[in-house]
Formats: sequence, C-alpha cells, structure tokens
Amino acid sequence: MKNSPCVLFFLFCLTLLGQEQYPKDVFGPPMDIPIILAGTFGELRSNHFHAGLDIKTQQREGIPVNAIGDGTVTRIKVSLWGYGKVLYIAHPNGYTSVYGHLQKFSPTIEAYIKKLQYEKKSFEVEVFPDYGEIKVTKGELIAYSGNTGGSAGPHLHFEIRSSISEKPTNPFLYGMHVADATNPILEKLFAYPLSDNAHINHNQERTQINFSRQDDGTYLADKVEALGEIGFGFIGYDRLDMAANKNGVYSVEFNVNGKIYSLYNFESFSFGETRYINTLIDYDYYGRHRQRIQKSFKSPGNNLSIYKELYNEGKVKVNKGLSYTANLIIKDYAGNTVKLAIPIEGKENQGPSTNNDNVTDNFLVAKKPNNYDLGGAKVYFPANTFYEDFYIDLKKGADTVTIHSNTVPAHRNFTITFDASKYPKETHKQLFIARLNDKIQPNFTNTYKRGDLFTARTRNLGTYTIAQDTTPPTIRTKNFKEKQWLNNYKYLSVSIADDLSGIDSYTATLNGEWILMEYEPKRNTLTYNFDDKIADQTQCVLKVTVTDNVGNVSTLTTSFYRK
Ligand SMILES: [Zn+2]
Repeated sequence: MKNSPCVLFFLFCLTLLGQEQYPKDVFGPPMDIPIILAGTFGELRSNHFHAGLDIKTQQREGIPVNAIGDGTVTRIKVSLWGYGKVLYIAHPNGYTSVYGHLQKFSPTIEAYIKKLQYEKKSFEVEVFPDYGEIKVTKGELIAYSGNTGGSAGPHLHFEIRSSISEKPTNPFLYGMHVADATNPILEKLFAYPLSDNAHINHNQERTQINFSRQDDGTYLADKVEALGEIGFGFIGYDRLDMAANKNGVYSVEFNVNGKIYSLYNFESFSFGETRYINTLIDYDYYGRHRQRIQKSFKSPGNNLSIYKELYNEGKVKVNKGLSYTANLIIKDYAGNTVKLAIPIEGKENQGPSTNNDNVTDNFLVAKKPNNYDLGGAKVYFPANTFYEDFYIDLKKGADTVTIHSNTVPAHRNFTITFDASKYPKETHKQLFIARLNDKIQPNFTNTYKRGDLFTARTRNLGTYTIAQDTTPPTIRTKNFKEKQWLNNYKYLSVSIADDLSGIDSYTATLNGEWILMEYEPKRNTLTYNFDDKIADQTQCVLKVTVTDNVGNVSTLTTSFYRK
C-alpha cells in the first residue's frame, strides 16, 4: 500500500511536533468526582520526579476508583511503602494505567489478593496476573481510594505509562481536562557563575536577582553585570483552579537574544533517570533551605532526557562590553505563561570578588573510587558516586563520623564501615548504624555485621553513629479489652510501636491459625477483618509477635469472646 499525500503530510506534521501521538479522549476519568489536583506530572519531589497526577479525594478515603479504559490487570501490589496498595491495568492501545495508595480493591480483586496473602502468610504481596485473567471494562469499579504506602494524606496517585517501555507519561496528554486559569508563579531568580573567574554582580557564587512585574504582566529582572559563562535558575510553581496546592510547572524555556538555549518539559521521562533530578535542582540550596531551584542550564552529570532543545548546555557566554537580553518562559500544561526578561551587561569585575569555595583537605574526584580512613570508621565511595568533583568535608567525633552534609547529592550507594570492637560483644546484636537527622535523632540504617565490622550502604551524606536498641516493641490492644465480648465488631485493632530501630516484621494468629493483619505504619496499627472468618469459635486467643530491626521480640497473647 502506498502512503497517500495526506498520510505523508500527517507524518511530516508529527515529525515537526517531535511528539508521540497519544490517544486523545479514549480514556475516561479514574473517579467520578471533579478532578482537582494536589500534584502534577514531573513535579519536583525528593530524589524523583512525580510520575503521575495526585488527585484529591475530598480529604477522605473510600471514593470509588474506575478503570479508565477496557483492559486487563497486569500487576497488583500491597506494600507498606511506596504506592501502598496499587493496581496496574494494561490497555489494548499500548498504555498501562496505574492507581496507587488505594484503601482496598474491588470485591473480586480483593478476594483474589486475600487468597494470595493467606497462601503466602504475608500482608505485603505482589502478583502479575496472566493476561486476560482479570479483565476490566471502561468505567468498572476496580478499587477504593485511600492513603496507603508513602502517602501523606488521602488521594489517588494516577499514572499512564507506556506498557512496553514502562515510561510514565503526562496524563494530560490524553485529553484529561483539569481547570487551570492561573499563570505559574515565579518566586525567586538566581544567577550562577559557571566558568572559572566568571562573576555576577561582583560575586563568584550563586546570586539572587530581584525582579518586578511590568504593566503588561511580564516580569523584568534587575540588570545583571557579569562576565564569563553564567546560567540561571528559578523557584516557581503552578497553581490550578479550585486548589491551593503548589504544583509543578510543565515547561521551561530559556532564550538569549531570541535564541533558545534550553527548553525542557514534562511530557515523559523514565524511572531510570528520575534520580538525576538532583542535577536539575540546586541540591546545595535545597539542603540548606528546603526549596528547589530549577536550573535552566545543564550541570555536569545531568543525564536527563527531558530537554527538547539545548544550546551550549543552556549557559550564556557574557563578553565585556556587550549586552544581552535573556528570557525565562515558564508554562503550565494549559499554556498559562509567565515571562521574565533578564538584561545582562558584560562588565569587568570591579572591587573585590567573593568566593567561598569551602576548601578542605580532601578534594574528591567523582570519576574515581575514593576511600577514606577516619580512624575507627572508613568511608568508601565507588567511582561516579557523585556528579561533580568537590572538596569533601570528613570529620570523626567521639562516637560519630560526619560525611560532609546533605548539600551534595549522591547518585550511587557508598559504604560506611564502623569498627565496633570498642563496644562489649554482648551488646553487638542490639547495635546498629544510625544516621542522625536534623533533630539529632538516630534513624535506623540497614546494618551488615561481620565480626567487629559494621557496614551500612547509603546515598545520604551526613552524620552517622552507632546506636543501641535495648527495648523490644510495644504491643497493645486498641479497640477491645482482654476477655471482652466482640459480637458486633467488624475489626480487631492492635497498636504496635518501637522506640528506636523500628519495626522489622510482625505475625499474628487466631487460635493458632495465621491471620492477615494489615499494618498501617502511619497509624502504628494492625487490623484484622472478621470477614476473613479464621478459626471462628466462641473463645478466641489472639497472639501477636513483633520484631524490631535489631531482633528484639515482643509477644502479646490475649483472648476475647465472639458468637
Ligand atoms: Zn503521587
């Protein structure tokens, strides 16, 4: 068959757009309530870009979730962390929809997963049903929205991925309509000197630039006096209608005298590259101020594929005596735009320049492996743990090692090894490597022990110590008392907690038979559903055993009656 001119023209247009053609208006909405977002695709999150939409669920759980199209369930997972209870549906058009943080599944799927949980004697399970085993139709109830896993409040996490590459794509590309009449908001602008001796306003470090709103609605920055290669970054967000949430923007363009130097957007990315977010943001600023500056230039080690256009890595070469006008153009998916003009003048640095590169004894070359012996503790960084070379700050305290600070991002795991020989042998079992958080509280880090050597693998710079957890977990009944009659009870609820190393595992039996107790770490609660009807008899003995991360064990045995 020959391509008609019409088809050729169509293909030509597609090439021009450089965009995959996403099926528009094929998929229905995942819920029947108005779609109001708490999070957009590509939004900047901790160590990752947000891979979907966070849809608000009226501050509650239990909103029916529907399949967005005909398809087959290809994956179901129940996890304490991450997406919590999550469902994946493959659609015939080559896309997979994902529904996360669910409270529970539809009765059919719930029965399917419960059978598996009882077989495996585990709340956490993952299953990949055969193609066609669990078919769904467009609009069919598949689950109820919840707050499970790493979710900070009730909402539905919703994704559309390419079934083959598993690359998440922006759900807006499929014609999903979300009201957005508000322009992105630009909060702060920064300029960066990027070449040796480059300077900005007599500065050789990151410099904040003020700007003001013009009568025509665009913004104008104060004139930047600079020389050498410089780049820019901004703090900004997008607001959609009906919600106060600060969501991510869709596209960022940086141009100089009309030429595009960088342009990126959040059409799609891959999970394999998502951690490179730490090269797009100014990680040092984030570590100090908890706010994310997005750079419009490409830093060393940045392997992101989100760039549509790039010239000179987005950096401006400023020459003496010349002037430039740079523009930062930030858009949301609806096309609402904020435009900022930045006048730049090439000028020799007059007066003293400031440059507080924090020079230490140890200059770390990122491409090479690096080993440091701090006496009593060793740190090993494999090659390419870091994106850039830097002066690493290493300190040994009486019981701590400080490995720089969380102002430099690590891409790979590195290892910290403590010599624990100074601690009495009988305490070794209860010891673990802990990272001290901002409040100097010890956070458990998975610790491998071999003789006196304790090792942890981590990607977080900061202060580490050896901590001891001597206290076993606590277990107490929550919604009933010992020997109580529980005739009309639907659930059995138990509180579990651990003071230091945290809970590693738990198990529960009713009259000697394993029961499924769903664990919600955010509420420290284990819940058994009486519908499971395990060992149903008048007198019931419940036994719950909980183990913490260093192996301290607690057991609660209690009884109740039920007819
Ligand atoms: Zn989400």
